[in-house]
Amino acid sequence: TRQFFVGGNFKMNPASRDAKRALIKTLNDASLDPNTEVIIAPPALYLIPILDLLRKDVKVAAQNCHSKTSGAFTGETSPTQLVDAGVPYVILGHSERRTLFGETSAIVAEKTRAALDAGLRVILCVGETLAEREVGRTQQVVEEQLQVVVARLSPEDWSRIVIAYEPVWAIGTGKVATAAQAQEVHANTRKYLVSAVSSAVAESTRIIYGGSVTAANCKELSASTFDSKGFQELNGHVGTQADVDGFLVGGASLKPEFVNIVNSKA
Ligand code: 13P
Repeated sequence: TRQFFVGGNFKMNPASRDAKRALIKTLNDASLDPNTEVIIAPPALYLIPILDLLRKDVKVAAQNCHSKTSGAFTGETSPTQLVDAGVPYVILGHSERRTLFGETSAIVAEKTRAALDAGLRVILCVGETLAEREVGRTQQVVEEQLQVVVARLSPEDWSRIVIAYEPVWAIGTGKVATAAQAQEVHANTRKYLVSAVSSAVAESTRIIYGGSVTAANCKELSASTFDSKGFQELNGHVGTQADVDGFLVGGASLKPEFVNIVNSKA
C-alpha cells in the first residue's frame, strides 16, 4: 500500500522570518496523522533554519535545484548541496518553473536524474493547461511530460519519486479539480506507468494531486473508495483504494488549515 503523502509548497512565501517561525510553530504544536508522510517546501533561504526548528516527523523539500553539483551557475542551488544540508526532497518541474522560468521537460528530466544521483527524493510535477484540457489533450500532455523523465530512470529509481498531478488551471485559482477529474488522470497515469515502467512501479508510486486544495475539499478528493465504477475498473482493482495518494498544497499550506489537510485520512 502507498503511504498517504501531503506536501506544502510555500512558493516565495512567507514574506518575513517572523511569519516563517509562526508557521513552523503551528506545525510543531499540531497533532498530525502519523500514517501520513508530511513534507514542507520553504524557500531555499529558510531550509537550514527550518531543519533546526521543525519537528522531526515532518520533512523538508527544496522547491528547485540545478542539475550540476557545483560551478559557475549564479543564483542556483545544487542537489549535492541540498543533501549536504540535510534536505531529503526536492520539487521539480512545477508549472511555475516550467512557464515562468522556461524549464522544458528535458531540463526537468536532467534535474531529476541529477537529484536522484545526489541522493534526493523527487516530487515530480506534471499537468495540463486549460487550453490543453479543452481540446482533450490532458493525458497526452501528462504522459509527454513523464516520458522524458521515464527515459532517464531505472526501475529502482521510482522508489524515490512522487508524481504530483497539478493541472495548471487549478493552481492558485480556487478552481479545484473534481474528485472524478483527479481520479481519472491519476488512474490513467498509473496505467501509463504499467506500460512505460512496470506494474510493480505503477502500483507502488504515489500520485498526489495539487491545485487549490483546501481543508474544505481534501476529504472528498482523497476518499478511499471512489463511487465511479468505471474508473475503478480502469484501474483494475474494483472497490479498493482510489488513485489519489495525497496532495501538494500551495496557498493553504501557509494557513493553519494545512493541518486539516494533513489529517484528511485520519
Ligand atoms: P495552490 O494550492 O495555491 O493552488 O497551489 C498548488 C501548487 O502549485 C502546489 O505546488
